[in-house]
Amino acid sequence: MKNNVLIIGGGPAGMEASAQLQRLGYNVILIERESTLGGHLNRWDRLFPEGVPASEPLEALMKNMNGVKCFTDTEIQSINRLDKSFNVILSNGITVLADAVLIACGFDLFDASRKEEYGYGIYDHVITNADLEAWFQSKSDDRIDNPKRVGFVHCVGSRDEKAGCRGCSKVCCVTAVKEACEIKEAFPDAQVYCFYMDLRMFGRHYEDLYLKAQKDYGVRFIRGRVSEVSENQDRSLLVKAEDTLSSKPVQITLDLLVLMAGMRHSEAGRRIADMLNLAPEDDGFFAVRNNLTANQQARMPGLFLAGAATGPKTLPESLADARSAAAAIDHYLTDIFPQTRKLKKLVKKNG
Ligand code: SF4
Repeated sequence: MKNNVLIIGGGPAGMEASAQLQRLGYNVILIERESTLGGHLNRWDRLFPEGVPASEPLEALMKNMNGVKCFTDTEIQSINRLDKSFNVILSNGITVLADAVLIACGFDLFDASRKEEYGYGIYDHVITNADLEAWFQSKSDDRIDNPKRVGFVHCVGSRDEKAGCRGCSKVCCVTAVKEACEIKEAFPDAQVYCFYMDLRMFGRHYEDLYLKAQKDYGVRFIRGRVSEVSENQDRSLLVKAEDTLSSKPVQITLDLLVLMAGMRHSEAGRRIADMLNLAPEDDGFFAVRNNLTANQQARMPGLFLAGAATGPKTLPESLADARSAAAAIDHYLTDIFPQTRKLKKLVKKNG
């Protein structure tokens, strides 16, 4: 009999792991709490560094999902570890006995209204990176009306002790640079500023994009944290910061300010961790068995982790993580269940 593997989360990591495990011959059940698969990819327009439409990798992932049993609009109601398996009751009333469970619950974006000094939810022309991506997709948002001066604030809710997150979200520097270029493409006359603490352009071609933003699009980078945003009478924004390179205070009037909200642990994932009595790491993400040698395994036998469940990741990192998690699940099931071992030997013998 085939082993059941339950995947929790239908974002890129969950989809990739499902496809891999299906190919390895397991009975894969994927649940997703939203009505469609794809997670945050559905809400992003183009991806860094090349500007590929987010729909492209999503379509490729979708194509490999044949044979995977998917339940959308579905959440975990309860999950209990038995001797060698998990008894899982889903919100659609179905009970699954899973031999292994993979949590690929992704991440939540930081709630930018918690940083009151930036005025999100108070001033109309303060938006987030997610709002801007939605506008790139739909070109419909009254707050974005031919802006002449646009600012981006990096590290919103990341690297910020007060916001409860010391860690770097990893992807928002390059996302800000990408979005700054896209704003220039949409509004060629606009002057665009990025307020940053450090620029963490670690990935392949990211540095090229940064140079292109300066050379081809004239984006101005100001090293310094924004301390205060207020609204002028004409509803433009007055942004105060300190340029930490020149040690001078800076005041700029803008028509649009984009807050680069960082990646936080998923609250839905936290609820599942609570059901299993699993303590998170101090950054809120899932704890792994070993950060160096077993970082797709949770601290519970049979429970695995992939993608942003264990911290901020780029899309290619999440996909690679999902493939590693699928391999780790395959090893685990082959070790634990004699019938899986026998079945594999038989398949190998018969070619
Ligand atoms: S990637 Fe950049 S913007 Fe994002 S948290 Fe790290 S330093 Fe800040």
